[in-house]
Amino acid sequence: MPSVMWRELTAEELRAKAAADAVVLLPVASIEQHGPHLPTGVDTILCEAVCRLGAERVVADTPVVVAPTLWCGMAEHHMAFGGTFTFDVPTYRSVLLALLKSLERHDFKRVLIVNGHGGNIAALNAFLPDFARETALKIRCATYFAFATTDISEVLEDQKGVQHACEVETSLMMVVAPEMVKRDRLPEAFGGVTGPSARESWYAVPSRFRSFRDVTASGVNGDARRASEAKGERLLAICVDGLADALRNAKLWD
Ligand SMILES: [Zn+2]
Repeated sequence: MPSVMWRELTAEELRAKAAADAVVLLPVASIEQHGPHLPTGVDTILCEAVCRLGAERVVADTPVVVAPTLWCGMAEHHMAFGGTFTFDVPTYRSVLLALLKSLERHDFKRVLIVNGHGGNIAALNAFLPDFARETALKIRCATYFAFATTDISEVLEDQKGVQHACEVETSLMMVVAPEMVKRDRLPEAFGGVTGPSARESWYAVPSRFRSFRDVTASGVNGDARRASEAKGERLLAICVDGLADALRNAKLWD
């Protein structure tokens, strides 16, 4: 099977992808602190893995290609821990628009931006009207867990959804890049605002900016001690199934 990854294909193969009206998956992620036990690349590694596996699942009947992952995003809230890069909003908008305009110039028509980092969500949603005005592309955007058609809380013991360097991300890393998980540091890998009132705490009224440093000493929000490979296998399958279903759903482009 030929690769689904843009960077592994020739320009000629990519011209053929555009001629076949392939959907471009554009993974957007982050490089940022992920506690004492996980590398800074977690969001980039996981987002790209879900995109690659989802694209490989459907490529035999649905033309698709995975663009190189945008590894820098909006991560001001992690800067205090070190190990973190961040854009500001105007730079992020400019970089994304340059990538989208490149795709447009190569005659791609449909782009699904697949996000792997919570800190990007507000900016991405804010950019969509501008991108619709400034390109002729059909652009859709979602964070990869949003495609899940199975409730991931059924897999989890300690949390309802994705937090940070947590039960979810650590379990996924145990499957996608197990050699990068420092298991000897897991006993320290918990903290932050968790439990039933976490959502109200993070989204208090009025809104305010908060550094993760003010919320968690470890850099973790959640409890990575609950992570396991078995959970990681199930979570990965849920995410890949959800993305593959979305790619096969023509209504996505109505
Ligand atoms: Zn993360």
